[in-house]
Amino acid sequence: MSDTVRAWRHIPQRYNLIGSKCEQCGKVFFPSRIICPECRRKGQLEDIKLSGKGKIYTYSVITTPTDEFKEIAPYVVAIVELEEGAKVTTQIVDCNPEDVQIGDEVEMVFRRIREEGKDGVISYGFKFKLNK
Ligand code: ZN
Repeated sequence: MSDTVRAWRHIPQRYNLIGSKCEQCGKVFFPSRIICPECRRKGQLEDIKLSGKGKIYTYSVITTPTDEFKEIAPYVVAIVELEEGAKVTTQIVDCNPEDVQIGDEVEMVFRRIREEGKDGVISYGFKFKLNK
């Protein structure tokens, strides 16, 4: 195992895009899976660190969200097809909804996801932004 591989293994999964790759058919899954739905027992799944780069496969603009997300509306939720082939549903941040188009290049960023309560816990996770 290389040093680089060792380094990212110690970072919690939510700070990295760790998927799994089937050695049999080469398919990449995110979130990780235990078994490849195509190959079943024939396929061995390996952890793979994803580049965090991809393209917008499809998207929708959310204008009437639930109360929890009212402050940030309108916002864009997209299915991003990662370079490695897996698809991720994610929010696209730092953009005007009008600027988003299918096929746009995007990259992963870390953002606050939610803050719970007044002195609450802030959780971070990945979102994507346009790479223009
Ligand atoms: Zn497979």
